[in-house]
Parts: sequence; structure tokens; C-alpha cells
Amino acid sequence: MVDLQTQYLQIKQDIDRGIQEVIDSAAFIKGPKVSEFQQHLEAYTGAKHVIPVGNGTDALQIALMALGLKPGDEVITPTFTFIATAEVVALLGLTPVVVDVDWATMNISVDAIRRAITPRTKAIVPVHLFGQCADMEAILELAREHNLYIVEDACQAIGAKYTFSDGRTLQAGTIGHIGCTSFFPSKNLGCYGDGGAIFTSDDDLAAKMRAIANHGCFVRYHHDFVGVNSRLDSIQAAILDAKLPHLNEYIAARQAAAAYYDHAFSGNKHILVPEHEPQSTHVYHQYTLRLIDVDRDALKAHLQEKGIPAMVYYPVPLHMQKAYQDPRYKEGDFPVAERLAACVLSLPMHTCLDEEQLKYITDSVLEWLS
Ligand SMILES: *Cc1c(COP(=O)(O)O)cnc(C)c1O
Repeated sequence: MVDLQTQYLQIKQDIDRGIQEVIDSAAFIKGPKVSEFQQHLEAYTGAKHVIPVGNGTDALQIALMALGLKPGDEVITPTFTFIATAEVVALLGLTPVVVDVDWATMNISVDAIRRAITPRTKAIVPVHLFGQCADMEAILELAREHNLYIVEDACQAIGAKYTFSDGRTLQAGTIGHIGCTSFFPSKNLGCYGDGGAIFTSDDDLAAKMRAIANHGCFVRYHHDFVGVNSRLDSIQAAILDAKLPHLNEYIAARQAAAAYYDHAFSGNKHILVPEHEPQSTHVYHQYTLRLIDVDRDALKAHLQEKGIPAMVYYPVPLHMQKAYQDPRYKEGDFPVAERLAACVLSLPMHTCLDEEQLKYITDSVLEWLS
């Protein structure tokens, strides 16, 4: 699905030098590389504060911890997403309220959010699924109307740009009160282990989240909150700092591969290619087809046989997960998510796909469907 080896070889010298500098300095934790990367990421994203943390799941957890929510407070998330989005809500004793998604964009449905808001609702966690922003203008408006926090799950969407109807453009993760991203190796900006970051423009929330990520202390050994230990280590920061200057090229390479796929599949009655959220760019963390009247799993197996990895993100919506069973929800409650879970297929997507590979992949899909 991803070719991290070729991408590494293209910038091997920079990455190796960054890692070596950390080893030579022995500043493995909270070293200068971490603050350098933080500043570079602030400049890239336009976020006032970037808080590097241990991974994307921690980012989401720390964000929710900072909001001062109480057990029983409701947090709205899409049911069609990676489990981490709702996991942290449940872990904190908050109540995940899952809602359906939009068939075209696969992102959280604004109408579904509106219907799910109750007096106990305190926050919305929209997920910018597969690399394009959810309908943030409408979500912000709902949040303002009902006085709700927005924590963006931008783990798949770093670098995606969202343009408001007044012409302002903001990056994924910098639109809500807090944004979260992941540097998991296969993410669009991936390190060589675990990593993540939190974005906010709110000075108080930033200070509080820094403290929570550091065992809940502003001053060493003086603990104001129950916190966690979540850090981006210096070696990962050095790797990310070497890759960040290339992120726009990486996004362009993904968009070029997506354009090839779109063109090859256009007009095929069995394939719906990804549709665009009108106000967002798409950075294609995944290129995900919706297959119509196709035995999806048989196609996946056929591709596997031809040496083409294809993956189902995600086969089971949250409300149908064993661990998240809840008397409030049953199969059939979220028909769009359930239909997507049955028909989506993600094709290989990375920064080093060449035309020969793309042709082989698309020919193999089309040949099986014909
Ligand atoms: C990857 C991902 C996460 C979690 O990131 P980790 O760094 O693996 O903890 C959360 N939400 C979504 C949507 C993701 O894709």
C-alpha cells in the first residue's frame, strides 16, 4: 500500500544526518530537534501552537482531557472512521455519540450531527477521512450555535486546505478549537515509529495540553492535573523535520496518482471514484473506491494474487464493533456507513507510484470487472 523505502532513499542524506545529530547530541527526549520541528510545523500549517506528542491517539486524548468535560458528557464522532477517534472518548468516561456519514465524501454528515445534538453534547470530533476536510464551515456554525468544542481528527489530512465562503483558507487541524494529527509511518507525513501533534490557536488550551502531555505539570514535580506521558522523541522529530520540506511534493505526487486512477476508472459503471468536498483540497491519504454490484472481497483477493495490495478501510463501523456495543445502537441505524463498510476498497497510494505501476493496478481492476 505504501513504499516508504523508495521515499527514504530520495532524502537519505538529510534523514541520516538528522538522526546522527540526535545521537551525537544525546538529547533524545525534549531535545532541540523537537522544538525546531515544532516551529517548522507551525510555519507550515499556520497553527499558532503545535504541541508534539507520542502519537495521534494521544493527541486526541490530550485534546479531550483539556476541555474539562465530565463523565456522561456527549462527544459526537462519525461511525465510519478508525477506532481511535471514539476510543479516547470512551476511555475518558465520556459518551461517544456516533453519527452517519455522507455517501459522496464519506465524511461526517452535518445533518446527522444536527440531529444528534442534545443538552449533554459538549464536543464534535469531525474526522477528515482519507485526506479531505469534512464540511467544516457548517460544522463550525453548528458548534457556535450550540456552544460546542470542535476537535478535528486530522490524522489523515495534514496539508489539506479548506476554503471558507469568505475566501479565508485554513489547513486541516487548524480550523476547530483543537486539531490532532498522527505521524504514523504510513501517514502523509510519517516518521519511523510513532509520533503525533496537536494544533491550537488558543494560548490557554495550548499551555494546558502541554502540561497534560507532561504528567500534568507546568513546573517540574508540581502536578496540577492528572496527566499522561506523551512525547515526540528527538529522533522522530529529526526524521519529520527532514521530510516536512517535501510534504507539498508528496501531496502533489499523491494527487497525480489519484488523477491517474480517476481517469482510468471514469465512466465504469461498477466504480465510484472519490468525490470531493467542495471547499477542501484532497491530500489522498487513501484512494478509496466505492464498488457497485461487485464482489468486493473477491476483487481484493484477485488483486492480492496479482501482487497488488488493496485494503478495506473500514470493514466494521464503530456502532457494530464488539467493544462499542451499546443499547442505543443497532445494525441498520447508520445505513450509509454500513453500505460503505461493505463496498469500499482502497488502492495503493503513496508518493512513489510510477505510471507503469498505476497502469498495472488499473488494468488489473478493470480486467476483473469486465
Ligand atoms: C492514524 C489515525 C489515528 C491514530 O493515530 P496513531 O498515531 O496511530 O495513534 C486516529 N484517527 C485516525 C482517523 C487515523 O487515521
